[in-house]
Amino acid sequence: SWGSLSDKNVYEWSSEEEEPDGRARPIQVLLVKDDHTFELDEAALSRILLSEEVRDREVVAISVAGAFRKGKSFLMDFMLRYMYNHASENWLGDANEALTGFSWRGGSERETTGIQIWSEVFLVDKPDGRKVAVLLMDTQGTFDSQSTLRDSATVFALSTMISSMQVYNISQNVQEDDLQHLQLFTEYGRLAMEETFLKPFQSLIFLVRDWSFPYEFPYGQEGGMKFLEKRLKISENQHEELQNVRKHIHSCFTNISSFLMPHPGLKVATNPLFDGRIKEIDGEFINNLNILVPWILSPRNIDVKEINGSKITCRGLLEYFKAYIKIYQG
Ligand code: GDP
Ligand code: MG
Repeated sequence: SWGSLSDKNVYEWSSEEEEPDGRARPIQVLLVKDDHTFELDEAALSRILLSEEVRDREVVAISVAGAFRKGKSFLMDFMLRYMYNHASENWLGDANEALTGFSWRGGSERETTGIQIWSEVFLVDKPDGRKVAVLLMDTQGTFDSQSTLRDSATVFALSTMISSMQVYNISQNVQEDDLQHLQLFTEYGRLAMEETFLKPFQSLIFLVRDWSFPYEFPYGQEGGMKFLEKRLKISENQHEELQNVRKHIHSCFTNISSFLMPHPGLKVATNPLFDGRIKEIDGEFINNLNILVPWILSPRNIDVKEINGSKITCRGLLEYFKAYIKIYQG
């Protein structure tokens, strides 16, 4: 009412990255526009990476990339929950709590291609006593035409270049075209890096969603590794092209691993009213989520981003981001 302009009314939030109520949110830092040009929101990225508490900390950058509508943001929100619950044993929390964070939803319409970053950078104590900054990135691409494939390749390349771990999110199986796409993406990345910095990428996880052959290769990381070994195997009677894709992928990443995820159940996949609560997700999925997320994010497992053998801080990452994007802007 009139005359009662309390502190609340004149409340100012500390940065544009926060909602008026102070909550963190996803920030679109890279946008691929309809005319296939790239727009980097340097100001927003700077506000996130140059904030006083994080700018001089070594950075761990986790990216999830792949095609639309394959459950990336859904997974990301569980990663956020893990971070907000401080990696505690029961980080999954209340079975009736709705899932929030990066927006995830049903439907099949197109969304923007680009990179979103969570506005809050998390400070984590590694077991060796170092405090590192953890940045979460959600990346999206389309693969429906030649031009968008090129856009997606660039987005994928950029996110691979600036992350310490790239989670390649794919549906059902690792198909030959998933590998070809990966080759194209990393080729784009390498091309750009050769001009400036000679260094392969860091870690790659093939995350297979809706894996439906657990009797051949069981869910999880070990089954994933065995499966991937088979898929990435190079043999002499293979066509040269198939051999080359595999050689290329091996030569690009320091670590390659894989994880096979079960289907989350029909409510997740088809019910438009589903709000992400664990109670309505298949138990097998939750069990594996409980292994996957700590495997990626636990303080002992996270690796600091390195470029040319040097550990990178948030401030450094911003500079690399700006340098890399220039290459693609031509
Ligand atoms: P994104 O575009 O890759 O970020 O996909 P979203 O996270 O927005 O999810 C798209 C739709 O897939 C939503 O309706 C989710 O409920 C659903 N979904 C999430 N995870 C999975 C999964 O592992 N398998 C299946 N089949 N659907 C999923
Ligand atoms: Mg998404």
